Parts: sequence; structure tokens; C-alpha cells
Amino acid sequence: MFWVNDVVKKILDRKDKKYLITDYKTPSGKIHVGSLRGVVVHDALFRGVEEADKKTEYWYGFDDFDPMDGSPEYLPKEFKQYMGLPLCNIPSPVKGYKSYAEYFAKDFENVYRQLGVNATTIWASNLYRAGKYNNAIKIILDNAAEIRKTYQEISGSIKPDDWYAFNVVCPKCGKIGTTRVHNWDGEKVSFVCEPKMVDWAEGCGYEGKISPFDGNGKMPYKVETPSKWYTFGTSVELAGKDHYTKGGSFYVAREIAKNVFKINPAFGFGYEWLHIGGKKMSTSKGVGVSAREISEIISPELLRFLMIRTRPERVIDFNPEGDTIPLLYDEYDRCIDEYLRDPKSDFGQAYHYSKISKNNPPKYRLRFSKVVYLIQMFRTSIEDYAEEEKGSHLTKDELSELKIREKYARLWLTKYAPENYKFEIQEKLPKSAENLDKGQKEFLSGIIKALSEKKWLGDELHAKIHEIKNELKLDPRKAFSAIYLSILDKDSGPQAGWLLASLDRDFVVKRFREVTK
Ligand SMILES: [Zn+2]
Repeated sequence: MFWVNDVVKKILDRKDKKYLITDYKTPSGKIHVGSLRGVVVHDALFRGVEEADKKTEYWYGFDDFDPMDGSPEYLPKEFKQYMGLPLCNIPSPVKGYKSYAEYFAKDFENVYRQLGVNATTIWASNLYRAGKYNNAIKIILDNAAEIRKTYQEISGSIKPDDWYAFNVVCPKCGKIGTTRVHNWDGEKVSFVCEPKMVDWAEGCGYEGKISPFDGNGKMPYKVETPSKWYTFGTSVELAGKDHYTKGGSFYVAREIAKNVFKINPAFGFGYEWLHIGGKKMSTSKGVGVSAREISEIISPELLRFLMIRTRPERVIDFNPEGDTIPLLYDEYDRCIDEYLRDPKSDFGQAYHYSKISKNNPPKYRLRFSKVVYLIQMFRTSIEDYAEEEKGSHLTKDELSELKIREKYARLWLTKYAPENYKFEIQEKLPKSAENLDKGQKEFLSGIIKALSEKKWLGDELHAKIHEIKNELKLDPRKAFSAIYLSILDKDSGPQAGWLLASLDRDFVVKRFREVTK
């Protein structure tokens, strides 16, 4: 069974009236591609529950009320002055956005919208200020002793008797990361803005009493998570695997949900990392590779497919500098073929949950690696080649799919493709082809003869080339290098039969005659 259907089955065992699926991210800077995996995995589950005819919603939340606890290296130094402030109260690094948080959140949101994710966006700062969490905050403060006990039992962190799971926004300096609440009288909390509580921000020393409601402060992550489940009635929330390890934040959250809020914790488990390999990709400092950067390398459909085809519990390794992209495209094509044959098959389902457009995928698609090669053949029109391969004119959808592949193939070739995918058809006879030996020349003459007999298809011509080589008892490496040296000035290249069949026949014949004369 495909993993989405497997997980949806477990979700539906809850027998909830409605299935609210949620995922959250703190927009503290450029958002890593790993968080995109979360967005897509939740979206697939949302689609699965919806297709089972159950009431469901998918919310994506930005935790913009969290403090800035690190200043990314790609930002000007002046941003260091904002450490400790809520992200929603820090100015945007780029004009046109309400805050620092909004700028990075919107950038990420634009990426996942392209992947066909239509989740409802929610903002922590709005929810706190509108008083949505007031009930949960009261329960958390009233049950401070139980919460301290849970922290100690689950994560081994010992909290003093005057510790409360709440951070006030300091009315004097505006910081939320530096305040410590030490008392709760049922209406107001007493707090200190500590100069030395955290090492990334300095509090102003202010002491006071304030109502914890309506946006005057927020709960820490481990307590906020079950508060969200309680407030909204969440059914499903997965998280990165570090949150779901034993003693991790979701273990604490689940215990608080059961013991303090007396609710059934949201269903969830940890999803694995998405590793991005290759030298060119590890240069952006402070974040690893952002979702935005990956979205610029591969098409939205392929990016979504990358995250859907692998079970969430397994690591994804993606290296745009190797042959990951052409292989991923081949796998994608295989899943589309299966989908068109039987959409309920496992491969068919992998495509089904990767699908962005409502339309069915085009039946004819030119293989990505062929597009990569054809781009490099100045004598061949890609569209003409595709029509010949298909045996008829391309439909509108087939043509637009071809254009998408061409766009990403060009990009990949210029920036990431390994050497063995690159070549250049030589306009003039390369020097390296002038010294081929007698056997190699006889071999090329054999090919000239075959080419003059009929018009060949790639695979057919490839078989014929092997036949000629065997008759001459020629070493394969020697034989094929004669072809590649004459045409590409390299001793290797794409499949020889395909290469020769794709090129203009007169050009090939003329070139081989020059070599063999
Ligand atoms: Zn302060």
C-alpha cells in the first residue's frame, strides 16, 4: 500500500468528526527545504482524508510571535539589535512587508503555493492578540506544577517551583526572549526581564505584573503545541524527527495534552531529513539550502514528487550535481505511465499525490536526459525530434510539458550537470579524429554504408553499429571512441545509435567520409 493511504487509514481510526491537519514553522530567516517536506507530507495526508469523504482542513501556521534567537549571516549586522524581540515586531529586511517574520514567511508560502498546497495560513501573533489562546494560557498557568513535573519526567529538565511556562513581552524593552514569569495570581503574572537568562539577548531588568492574555506574551513551544491542539481540535500534526525522538518536544506536548488538557493528542510521527548534496549547493550560509533555492532548480511537479515518492520515515538525498535529476525524471515518467494504466497502483498513487494540475498528464513525454542531449545538438530541433519519436504531432499539453523540461534541462546543464552529460557537436573535423587507425576507419565506413541504406531509429541503428563492430572484431572502446571523437571531440558520449540517428544524416556521412578518406 502506498504510504499516504497507509497513514490515512491510521488517521481515520481516530473517528474524529472533523480532521484538522496542521503544520507550523517559525519564520526566523530563510526557510530550509526540509520544512518543505513537512508542508508536502501534510498536504498529501489532507488530500487522502478528503478523498475518503471526511470533513477536513489543512492549516499552515507561522509562529511569528517567537523571539529572534539568532541572526542569520546573510543579514546586515544591524539586525543583531533585535535579538530577543518577537519576530513579528522586527522590521522587514526588504521593503513591502509588515515585519521580518512576514517577509520570510511569504517567501516560503510562495514556494509551497507553486507545489499545489492550498493550506489556510494562520499567524501566531494574530491568534494571541485576538485572545484565541486565553483559555489555554489560563489552564497552563493554573497547572504549573503538573507541567513542571511533565518536563522533568519526559525530558529530564528540572524546573524550580516558581517556574511558569510563559514569556511576557517586556512592556519596557519589547523583548519576549528574556522575560521570566515567577508568579501567577489568577489574573496577572509577575515577571522579571532578565539581563542574563539567555546568552543571545540581554533583558532590561524591568520587573512588573501584567495580564498574560490578549497578546501580552506567549507559551514556549512544548506547551504551545498541545495548547493549539486543545484550542483548535487538531487531529494530525507531524514534525521533523528530532521533535519526535524520545524525550523530545512532541513527547512533552503529548503528555501535557493528556494530563493537563485531558484531550486525545494529535496523531503524528517524525519525518526524516532531506539532505542536499554537492559543492555548489552548500554555499548559502546559515540555513543550508532554502526551499526557495531548490524550487528554482527543478519544476514544481518534480519537487513535489521528490518528497512524495519516499516514505516520510526515510531520508531523502538529493544532489543536483550528480545524475539525481535525470534519474528522478525517469522515475517520475514511470509513475505517470503507471498512473495512466492504473491510478490505484502504488506507482500510480505516487504520481496521484504529486499531481498539481487537475488535468491528466500527457501520454507522450520526451525523456529528460534526451532533452539534455538534444539541447546540445545545434542541428536538431527538439520539437521535430519529439514529433518523430512520437510518430505524430504533439498535443498542446505534450508541447507545454516539453517546454518545461527544456527550461529545466538548460538550467541544469549550465549550472549542475556532470561532465558525462555535456558535449558539443563539432562544426569542423576535430584534430583528435585525424589519427584513427585502419580498424576504426573501416568501422566508420561500415556505418556510412548502413546510413545510406535507410532511415534508422536510434535503437535499431545502435544494434546495427554493434553488428558492424563484431564483424570487424573491433574492441568496443576503440570502436565507439571513433564515433565520439569524430563528432564530439570526446571519447565518450550519449548512446551512439541514438546520437547518430538524431543528427542530420548528411552531416554524419560527410564527417565520417572526411575521417576515412
Ligand atoms: Zn525588558
